Amino acid sequence: MPEVHARLSASGAKKWLNCPGSIQLESQFENIPSEFAQEGTTAHALAEAKLRFALKQIKRTEYAALVKKLDVNGEMEEYTDGYRDFVIKRYNHALKTTPDAKLLIEQKLDLSKWVPQGFGTGDAVIVGDGILEIVDLKYGAGVAVSADWNPQLRLYALGALDSFDFLYDIKIIRTVIYQPRKDNISCESITPEDLCAWGEIVAEKAKIAADDAITECTAGDHCDEGFCRARAVCRAYAEKRSSLAKLDFKPPAKLTLEEVAEVLEQSAKLKKWAELVNDYALDQAVNHEADIPGYKLVEGKSSRKYSKSDDVISKILVENGYSENDIFNRSIKCITEMEKLLGKTRFASLLKDCVIKPQGKLTLVPIEDKRPAVNSASQAADDFAEIIEKENK
Ligand code: SF4
Repeated sequence: MPEVHARLSASGAKKWLNCPGSIQLESQFENIPSEFAQEGTTAHALAEAKLRFALKQIKRTEYAALVKKLDVNGEMEEYTDGYRDFVIKRYNHALKTTPDAKLLIEQKLDLSKWVPQGFGTGDAVIVGDGILEIVDLKYGAGVAVSADWNPQLRLYALGALDSFDFLYDIKIIRTVIYQPRKDNISCESITPEDLCAWGEIVAEKAKIAADDAITECTAGDHCDEGFCRARAVCRAYAEKRSSLAKLDFKPPAKLTLEEVAEVLEQSAKLKKWAELVNDYALDQAVNHEADIPGYKLVEGKSSRKYSKSDDVISKILVENGYSENDIFNRSIKCITEMEKLLGKTRFASLLKDCVIKPQGKLTLVPIEDKRPAVNSASQAADDFAEIIEKENK
């Protein structure tokens, strides 16, 4: 969940565990919350209110007042309903074996035994005899997040185990990522012994990362997965990226398909790096008056636009004999916006017969991509056979 950040935050753990120098380097860049982070914060606040209402911790009027303050849409309503139902179901399951099982919402967790000044907030912590379960709502729609070896959730699990171990006989700990916009529920089960052994290793690494004298940076998948703010200027990241370009081609003159595949793989990463460096250089030149050697700031192409509101413009035109039909274009919201407004279920019930999905343009993607492969040649042959069959009827 979005949290007030400790210097070594649990959500950034994968980064500082793999790259202790990231703490120093990233601290030189402002942490500006993205629009998506804001959306995630709203979804968490709504989810919390729904759970508290379901558990009768707040009254209907309090619930309504909380929700009124939030910028909620139909899609968010539906996804947070799903999360609430999931958590309540897990809680009811725990109650079957432990009548005094607890469900704690937005539980503050002290992580300072493992991470200097570390703390976190468990979205939903269910604890009873035998089992401790930590459910983390992820509202992102980008990459599906896995609970496997997820250091953020394992740190939360350590904090929760430390708080409740003396009250319950915990034999297994389950961490769960609930990510509705990716249709992703990912779990990891771990014994208290294995978790504590992992915690000891983490505590050692956290000590190193917290040391201001440590500036050693190690680049890897964690740089992009953790959205490291230092990527544009990090030398370790630059070296890793530029090593990608040193492809070693041998005769004959024509590249093999394997070599073409290698160029494709590396070029996507190089493109991303180039974009980051470009954004950084532009920000330095525009906002910090930096001189980038060999470059200058110029104005890009711009288009004319109205300087007054639609009401003012339309009034002038209507007074001069033009009808509203002449001057306004009316169009319906796109499917994504409409689905956001209505929520997926209502959208489907009202408009299921009004939506088609044309065949997408063929694109080459890495083999790990979850979409099923299209064999374009055999597909074309099938289509051709279908046409011939129709013509012969
Ligand atoms: S970009 Fe990667 S290597 Fe560089 S500081 Fe960030 S996490 Fe470390």
